[in-house]
Amino acid sequence: MNVNELTRQLIDIPSVTGDEKNVGEFLATYLEGLGYEVVKQEVAADRFNVFARTNVAPRVVLSTHMDTVPPAIPSSEDDEKIYGRGACDAKGIIAAQIIAATRLRDEGINEIGLLFTVDEEAGSYGAQVANQIKFTQPPEYLLNGEPTDNKLAVATKGSLRLNLRATGRAAHSAYPEQGESAIEKLLDALERIRKCEWPADELLGETTCNIGVIRGGTRPNVIPDEASAVLQLRLVGAAEPIKRTLETAVGDGIEITYLSEHKPIHLLDLDGFERCVVRFTTDIPYLSNWGKPLLLGPGSILNAHTEHEFVEKRELAEAVELYVGIVRMLLAEKSKAAENAEGVLK
Ligand SMILES: [Zn+2]
Repeated sequence: MNVNELTRQLIDIPSVTGDEKNVGEFLATYLEGLGYEVVKQEVAADRFNVFARTNVAPRVVLSTHMDTVPPAIPSSEDDEKIYGRGACDAKGIIAAQIIAATRLRDEGINEIGLLFTVDEEAGSYGAQVANQIKFTQPPEYLLNGEPTDNKLAVATKGSLRLNLRATGRAAHSAYPEQGESAIEKLLDALERIRKCEWPADELLGETTCNIGVIRGGTRPNVIPDEASAVLQLRLVGAAEPIKRTLETAVGDGIEITYLSEHKPIHLLDLDGFERCVVRFTTDIPYLSNWGKPLLLGPGSILNAHTEHEFVEKRELAEAVELYVGIVRMLLAEKSKAAENAEGVLK
C-alpha cells in the first residue's frame, strides 16, 4: 500500500479513544507482515500499544497515537486531499511513519522502531504504560508525530487542569437570605480568575486559561448548594506560580483539585527545517524513557478534531521524505560523534 491507501485504510477502522483494539490488531498484523517483531503491550482490557522493531535495538523510534476523537468519519478523497476522522490526527501520520520506515530499511537502516499508542486524546495513558517498557539499550531519539504542518516543533506549551468546587446552602429561591448560592460564589471566583495576569514567554507566547466546563444547581426555584467548573491552562513556564495566583484569586470557600499538570517542553532542534511552537499537548511528556523528543507531522492542528478533518496528499508525501531525512540525520549525528571520539582516541 502507498501512503494514501494506508491512510484511508486506517481511517476506515474506527478507533475512538477506548476502542482502539481493531486498529491495533490491523497494525500489528500489517507490521508483522513487513517483517517487524511486534509487541502488543496491554494497557487495559482490549487496549494495547503497538511497538514494532527490527532485529536490532532501535536508536530512533517514530511514534504517534492510534486513537481519535469521536465520531468516526469514513474516508474519502479527491485529487488533493484525504478526508475522514484521523486523516491528520493521526492516521496519516501513522501511514507516513510506516512508509518512511520501510524506505529506511530498504536503504539498510534497521536501527528504527515504531510505537503507536492508545489514549492520547484522553490522558495519554497508553504512553504512560509504554514508558514502563524496560530496554536493555534505550532508544536515543523519539520522533513523535502530531499535525505541525510538517514543521519541526521546537517547543510545546505545558498544561494545568483543575476542578473548582463551590458549596453553599440550599433554600427556597423566594427566601434567598436563608441560603447561600454556590453558583454565585463560583461565578465570583471565575470572574477574579478571568482578571488574573498570567506570565508570557518570548518563545511560547501567552499563558491561556479556558473555563471548559461549568455545572451546578438543580432548578430555578432552589438556591444551589453546589457548583463546579473545570479549567485548563496552557503554560509557558512552571506550574507552581500559576497555582499560587489561582489560589489567591479563588479565595476561601472554594475547593481546588488539580487534575493534571505538565511543564512546557523544549524539543530537539535541527538545522535546515522550518520551525514552529505548538500549543497543544502530546504523548511526549510521558515518553521520557524513549529518547530525546522531536515533533513533526503532516496536516494542521486547526482542522484536527473537526468534522471536515483532512490531510493533503502533498503533505503526506512530504512527511515521508522528512521522516526519512530526519532519521538519517539523527543516526549520522551519532556516527559523526563516534568517529570524532575515535579520532581523538587515536
Ligand atoms: Zn493527535
